[in-house]
Amino acid sequence: MLDQGHISPHLPPEIARRRTFAIISHPDAGKTTLTEKLLLYGGAIQMAGQVRAKGEARRTRSDFMKMEQERGISVSASAMSFEHEGHWFNLVDTPGHEDFSEDTYRTLTAVDAAVMVIDGAKGVESQTRKLFEVCRLRDMPILTFCNKMDRESRDTFEIIDEIQESLAIDVAPASWPIGKGRDFIGCYDLIYDRLALMDRADRNVRAQAVQLDGLDDPRAAEHVPADLLAELREEVEMARGLLPAFDRKAFLEGTLTPIWFGSAINSFGVQELMRGLAQYAPPPRPCPAASREVRPEEPAVTGFVFKVQANMDPKHRDRVAFLRLCSGHFRRGMKLRHVRSGKTMTIANPVLFMAAERELADDAWAGDIIGVPNHGQLRIGDALTEGEELRFTGIPAFAPELLQSVRAGDPMKAKHLEKALTQFAEEGAAKLFKPAVGSGFIVGVVGALQFEVLASRIEQEYGLPVRLEPTQFNGARWISGPREAVEAFIKANRGHMAYDHDGDPVYMTRMQWDLDRAARDHPEVRLSAVKETH
Ligand code: GDP
Repeated sequence: MLDQGHISPHLPPEIARRRTFAIISHPDAGKTTLTEKLLLYGGAIQMAGQVRAKGEARRTRSDFMKMEQERGISVSASAMSFEHEGHWFNLVDTPGHEDFSEDTYRTLTAVDAAVMVIDGAKGVESQTRKLFEVCRLRDMPILTFCNKMDRESRDTFEIIDEIQESLAIDVAPASWPIGKGRDFIGCYDLIYDRLALMDRADRNVRAQAVQLDGLDDPRAAEHVPADLLAELREEVEMARGLLPAFDRKAFLEGTLTPIWFGSAINSFGVQELMRGLAQYAPPPRPCPAASREVRPEEPAVTGFVFKVQANMDPKHRDRVAFLRLCSGHFRRGMKLRHVRSGKTMTIANPVLFMAAERELADDAWAGDIIGVPNHGQLRIGDALTEGEELRFTGIPAFAPELLQSVRAGDPMKAKHLEKALTQFAEEGAAKLFKPAVGSGFIVGVVGALQFEVLASRIEQEYGLPVRLEPTQFNGARWISGPREAVEAFIKANRGHMAYDHDGDPVYMTRMQWDLDRAARDHPEVRLSAVKETH
């Protein structure tokens, strides 16, 4: 279990000031808008609105995914860094669409905290709940931002109750909204005893803050209409009596979340949230490896790949592996050991993601995310170290829930197709299974939309029209156990066997009955829906 002691008191200042986080939300709650405003305050962009605009420009340039533009879905996660008031923030973007949840899950292995954005009118929605559960599995500290308070929203106590009840987490208000909907004028900051007033005229202006000495301070009445002030006093008194106070230990353990109310589009509440991240969210946390725990202050550089993105520039068959640095001080040109292959790699052109532009990184610290261009050597889960044989754990691969067989339009192009599919499998975009019997391929995904994305990418990036068709199988399980038992299992089930892109055997199933029978006939063999990447 995580406790305060988990944060090392010996962190070098460069590492101690880092905050690596993700934003989790249901589509439409305001994640993109909040991201823009965070970057705006971080000075990474000049004006809000540019993230989207620049993002689009970049995508047009790389044009690796037409569908992304057509449907407005952010298919690929990216990382952005910015500084604010002495802290260095790494924001790892998560794809919002539920079809890409596996990517999102892996992204969450690379961050130390999450900001949960909810819509003040809608409360906790399905995707928020799913992502929250993943954060909980990892004991991740969560800060909550209740957005769109400029619109009609639910009663504040009701929102807080819903979060507490549906997510089983304590909620401590860090701010309290004043007025509702059109009458919303700002928030009372419960931590700093300040009024923050929203400027409806200029959406990009930072809120004006008025320091108070309690809510009976006459200055409060100068800024808040009498009826709203009376209501605020009453609600704050009730909140202080009924709701838990902020407790950093409980927050770090993931059992309590502070909540800020705001309106991302009006830049309101964003600064308070950033301050909350700086002050309460943890600096880089230790990363679990098979043999030991890797602490951020260790001088030797280590990191793991949590995402691979191909063809950011379609003219080059390059890929960028996103590496979470777990320890040390990385410098450009370093030679690192690629543990899986045992080879040394010179990291000559690492990429830091400053807002919308990719920039070359000269150095980076534990907690940072860097992009490492490569030609396919780096896969999800791979470790890079200064020599140590490390294997980071906890980066999951999930059994796909949807399977289809795939064929090249031109049968002569089967080898070509295999290469394309292998690349996407290594990138994590789909699972590839080569049946032991026959010549076709089966691809598996977690969400149906991924099939379309896959077909369109194979066509665009490899010039290969493909046909995706239903298969008799609808499930896949990785096999492990004593070698002889596994071999006997494979022999007895040849018609159901396939191999994934790592060459590991997979049992393809048609129905629950297949699993029941396998468990009965081969009790020593373990069938698993999750494969930890190694
Ligand atoms: P995402 O899908 O979570 O990334 O959500 P977006 O940031 O794209 O926002 C969804 C919609 O809500 C957009 O039309 C935004 O302009 C709007 N929106 C975002 N924040 C606010 C807010 O604070 N108030 C209001 N009224 N609308 C907002």
